[in-house]
Amino acid sequence: MSHPDLFSLSGSRALVTGASRGIGLTLAKGLARYGAEVVLNGRDAESLKAAQSELEAEGLKASTAVFDVTDQDAVIEGVAAIEQRRGSIDILINNAGIQRRAPLEEFSRRDWDDLMSTNVNAVFFVGQAVARHMIPRRRGKIVNICSVQSELARPGIAPYTASKGAVKNLTKGMATDWARHGLQINGLAPGYFATEMNEKLVADAEFTDWLCKRTPAGRWGRVEELVGAAVFLSSTASSFVNGQVLMVDGGITVSL
Ligand code: NAP
Repeated sequence: MSHPDLFSLSGSRALVTGASRGIGLTLAKGLARYGAEVVLNGRDAESLKAAQSELEAEGLKASTAVFDVTDQDAVIEGVAAIEQRRGSIDILINNAGIQRRAPLEEFSRRDWDDLMSTNVNAVFFVGQAVARHMIPRRRGKIVNICSVQSELARPGIAPYTASKGAVKNLTKGMATDWARHGLQINGLAPGYFATEMNEKLVADAEFTDWLCKRTPAGRWGRVEELVGAAVFLSSTASSFVNGQVLMVDGGITVSL
């Protein structure tokens, strides 16, 4: 007996923001391995080209779209250009994000604005620009990258925590407004993964020791371990899942 392949992404096109490195690049590669044609976004053309070559060397279909996700006009233009030149965006992974660390009493207005601009405004800008194309087609998948900090605070990163809490609730709001148009919008919340964003923490033996004790799985996450959840939320398998945040965190948010 044959079964429909609920997880196949063949014939679909995915835009992944912040895909030049780290989690974005890994998710783009993962979606492409499941059959999607991927469009890699970031601000630096050179690093995006290198990422594209990495995927193409594996026989995967990839192109690049250079724009700053915090610039709404650039986002609208960039999304329209992809739709015109390459075809419909079926999947959006809203991944671009930044971190700034300082005690809250010393946190600068500038760092606060940068965080909100990249982590919150951009999720709205790109989500809305892409949804405007998806809604008339009555289908589309949006995956917003949340965080353990969508639920829990930690010293020195209160504004990041606020931004990721906002992404979680924006995900619920997008689902509430757009599910009726045939879209599924969900969140994917990584725990602690060893990427460039976390290089200071990875190098900090005391932090790693604390993290391994605090995480039921007892270790840092490997970025490849985010792919399964992203494929699920981007595929037919999640056709009636809406407004949920899937934690991929080794259990850190369910235990004290
Ligand atoms: P990363 O290694 O620092 O990569 C960030 C990516 O975003 C880069 O490709 C960067 O490219 C791009 N980017 C940043 N600002 C941008 C902008 N204004 N416009 C377009 N692209 C932009 O970060 P990461 O660790 O992979 O994190 C990715 C996402 O996962 C973030 O939303 C982060 O908050 C979230 N997250 C990470 C972890 C973790 O453990 N690493 C845990 C939970 C959540 P350019 O700088 O070249 O533009």
